[in-house]
Amino acid sequence: MSVLDSLVFDNRFSEELPSDSVTVNAPRQVRGALFSRVEPTPTSAPSVIARSDEMLELLGITEEQANSAEFVDMVSGNLVLPGLDSFAMRYGGHQFGNWAGQLGDGRAINLGELSTPDHGRQTLQLKGAGPTPYSRSADGLAVLRSSVREFITSEAMFHLGVPTTRALSLALTGDEVMRDMLYDGNPALEPGAVVCRVAPSFIRFGSFELPSSLNEIDLLTTLADFTIREYFPDLWPDDGRPNGQTYADFYGQVVRSTADMINHWQRVGFVHGVMNTDNMSILGLTIDYGPYGWLEDYDPDWTPNTTDRHGKRYRFANQAGVGHWNLMQLANALVPLVDDPKMLQDGLDGYVAYFREGHQEMFAAKLGLAAWDVDRDDQLMLDLLDLMAAAETDMTLFYRGLANVSTDDGVSADDRFAPLLEAFYLPDEQLTDELRGGWDAWLDRYCARVRSDGTANGKRKEAMDATNPLYVMRNYLAQLAIDASTEGDHSKISELLDVMGNPYTEQPGMERFAEKRPDWARTRVGCSMLSCSS
Ligand code: AMP
Ligand code: MG
Repeated sequence: MSVLDSLVFDNRFSEELPSDSVTVNAPRQVRGALFSRVEPTPTSAPSVIARSDEMLELLGITEEQANSAEFVDMVSGNLVLPGLDSFAMRYGGHQFGNWAGQLGDGRAINLGELSTPDHGRQTLQLKGAGPTPYSRSADGLAVLRSSVREFITSEAMFHLGVPTTRALSLALTGDEVMRDMLYDGNPALEPGAVVCRVAPSFIRFGSFELPSSLNEIDLLTTLADFTIREYFPDLWPDDGRPNGQTYADFYGQVVRSTADMINHWQRVGFVHGVMNTDNMSILGLTIDYGPYGWLEDYDPDWTPNTTDRHGKRYRFANQAGVGHWNLMQLANALVPLVDDPKMLQDGLDGYVAYFREGHQEMFAAKLGLAAWDVDRDDQLMLDLLDLMAAAETDMTLFYRGLANVSTDDGVSADDRFAPLLEAFYLPDEQLTDELRGGWDAWLDRYCARVRSDGTANGKRKEAMDATNPLYVMRNYLAQLAIDASTEGDHSKISELLDVMGNPYTEQPGMERFAEKRPDWARTRVGCSMLSCSS
């Protein structure tokens, strides 16, 4: 008898789809299968250092169960419960614009699909639980710093209202892992960790690209049918026989959910950092938190990922365009399923207009406008973004401050501007008279625009504060939690999780989590720059 006996698993993916016939856990090219069965590697001294109580509840896991040794073993990879069927998914992907062939879950192991009380089947996946057939020359492990970042931020994103995979737990393994953090020839041992991630499914664009690229059309069809039946049931035809139109409709939904996800990223200032097609969820969830970051001073050209320093492919302002490019790769992969590629082309073509519409709606909300008026508001937005980029302006604090600006007639320019001052990093040096003049002129237009809607200041603030977060997972906050955790104090992780659980509401006593990035973090590794090493 195990205390976890009440958990019911219903492993559709591994039960229904073709598996790798080779069962040896060694790196190889896998053919004709969508996954390989593999068990996590046991760890020497696992301990859970943080967990999400909300996820426990969502999954129907009790406090008593979560406190048990079995739970610790399950979420660190030491125990594969009866009923679980652990496996690594096979997928490919375009990395930084180039086709990379087979990638697959090199250090993620799906435990199985848990039947939850109210949220259907949820896949539990361990990240950093040891090598799989897809590990290539790497170790299948993950270190504490990147695991803290993934654990907190996937939960924080959920509370920001951004579609995302979630995290149940963060465990130390008790083992050490060698990493060359900056790829500069200075490897060091770091604490190993495992995050238990949760999502309805971890199927990616690359899951379709790989079989398609190898002309494994039966496999591609099987995966598409499974995905549609399980996750897009409204599209599943009554006669159970999907046709070209079914696949095109499925693609159209992926186009829209991807656009929605990226619009949310733009709203909160999130830069994913590695939008390779293997890191694009077919469900439009933010997935694979690596060298991501938050815009602090608004710089549309910023990318947190040092590996992307030169091309800046994944910079903030390029995320919508990369979404389009990635969707084009997915369309290419699905071509064998439709009668005419034009059916997919139409879906892809719809992206631009759909994204723009969503972006306008999103920006109207950020600015507290009743609706977007293209003729007036496009230019208002472009001029605002130019002003924000002209001096280092904290994006998050700016929008919160703007909600406090009075749009009433007759307010002095200084009084009107006062709520925005806090957002400037270097007001004495950068907020020149000329720039200040630019802001005053913009605010004249903005205030007139809001008045034309007839929205009262209080009502506008309420609406704006509901869409412009106050607390975001600034890199330096994550880094402080990582530093403390590395020294054995894990309490800062749970504290951050709590604050980020309510990002739109001022929390008395928590002001320090809403502050601008301090000066020391400007150039510190982990705060302003991150590599893919994790
Ligand atoms: P990522 O950029 O983290 O999405 O990873 C790209 C590919 O490399 C995926 O196939 C990962 O599974 C694999 N990978 C990344 N880190 C490791 C590692 N430490 N061990 C094995 N595979 C890894
Ligand atoms: Mg990945």
